Formats: sequence, structure tokens, C-alpha cells
Amino acid sequence: MELKLADFVLYIVVGCFLLVPVIAVISRTLHAKVERRALANRVICRLCLHAFEDSSHVKTVHCPACGANNEKGPGRRLG
Ligand SMILES: [Zn+2]
Repeated sequence: MELKLADFVLYIVVGCFLLVPVIAVISRTLHAKVERRALANRVICRLCLHAFEDSSHVKTVHCPACGANNEKGPGRRLG
């Protein structure tokens, strides 16, 4: 089978149209992963609502603004 120029161009165009959403999904997935990791380390003080990041693996952290004890971990949302 002979590959014609028109077919070749068509394949490239179709390939680009398929590639764009794939790259978009990959980029979004990577971004969500980074954001989730940042969110897991984020602590909002229950007393003064100061938001800070803590990457240590302890259960309670001290607020740098007011010194109050704050529980951290997934599943706990401010509400
Ligand atoms: Zn505080």
C-alpha cells in the first residue's frame, strides 16, 4: 500500500487532535497530584484560622501564629 501525501497529512492532523486531550489529561493528573500533596500538609488553625503547611508526620502541630494545638490529617475539614 502506497502512502499518499494527503493521507500522511491527515494522519498527522488526526494524531495532533488525539494528542492534545491526552497531554491535557496527563498535565491535569500531575497537577492534581501536586495539589493533593500540598493539601495533605495544609493545616488551618482552629483558633485563629491561620493556614500553614506542615510536612512532619505528627498528629498534632502547633500553630506558628497563636501556638494552639491543631489536629491534622485527612478527613478533617473546616466547617
Ligand atoms: Zn493559630
